[in-house]
Amino acid sequence: LKKTAKDFERKAGKVEQAAVLGAGIMGGGIAYQSALKGTPIIMKDINQAGIDLGLNEAKKLLSKRVSRKKMDADKMGDVLNAIKPTLSYGDFETVDVVVEAVVENVKVKHAVLAEVEKHVKPGTVLTSNTSTISITKLAEALERPEDFCGMHFFNPVHMMPLVEVIRGEKSSEETIATTVKYAKQMGKTPVVVNDCPGFLVNRVLFPYFGGFAGLLRDGADFQKVDKVMEKFGWPMGPAYLMDVVGIDTGVHAEGVMAEGFPERMGRDFKSAVDVMFENERYGQKNNIGFYKYE
Ligand code: NAD
Repeated sequence: LKKTAKDFERKAGKVEQAAVLGAGIMGGGIAYQSALKGTPIIMKDINQAGIDLGLNEAKKLLSKRVSRKKMDADKMGDVLNAIKPTLSYGDFETVDVVVEAVVENVKVKHAVLAEVEKHVKPGTVLTSNTSTISITKLAEALERPEDFCGMHFFNPVHMMPLVEVIRGEKSSEETIATTVKYAKQMGKTPVVVNDCPGFLVNRVLFPYFGGFAGLLRDGADFQKVDKVMEKFGWPMGPAYLMDVVGIDTGVHAEGVMAEGFPERMGRDFKSAVDVMFENERYGQKNNIGFYKYE
């Protein structure tokens, strides 16, 4: 077994420069974590507001570390300098691994992956942080699907240790090994999983959200459900967790899961979550979801 693990590790390429596409909740967190652990990262978005959000999040997290005396101000400057915000693909030929973290939509992801592939050197590992979409399906947009796999972080990135590394039908062993190496470099615990809608964690999580939606339909008070689940020992209840994840992201993801497993993940009623989505109550990202935020 040890020999197999060593053989696998030997297949990994170098990861000295990373890039993330999308500077939202996840992209901002990935940039922060990569820079903090010593891998410089380019953070690309399509609008300046997105970049500002991602950078502010990183600054907030770093300031906290400084005020708790876990880091000095010089080091904070170094980490911030290791995040290079941009609106263009200018420096992508130097990148070893790219993490795509744009909106959870197949068409948008296909377009973004096809575009970035033109700007990186062959052998650069492309990954997607998709929560639910099949990696094999996303790879259809690529000329080099062997260089592509899933790299699924959890929210908030700086706190959640797990990263799912998802093997698409055409992902090469080198691609998987390099992605595992990058996750470890970031201080995370990678687990290699097969490709299917929702992978491992969301196949467990979404039926739980579905159960919560059913409770709401039956008249349950969401705040009480949250309190009960906290007493049960979970760090937060389902309503608060949905606000953290993003109601929009959750609704999109649920659609993909229901399509993939209609008998197991389908739901035959409109839930309070659908109504919140229609009313643009997306959670912490726009300060209103189940709860109100400052
Ligand atoms: P978000 O809405 O917070 O951020 C998406 C960002 O992508 C925005 O800043 C947007 O401007 C940018 N963007 C859109 N099109 C782009 C393009 N063509 N090029 C570059 N940037 C572009 O979304 P998020 O919650 O960070 O989710 C991003 C991805 O991560 C999704 O695939 C989602 O399913 C996945 N994910 C989310 C969570 C979560 O809890 N939110 C957890 C794990 C994985």
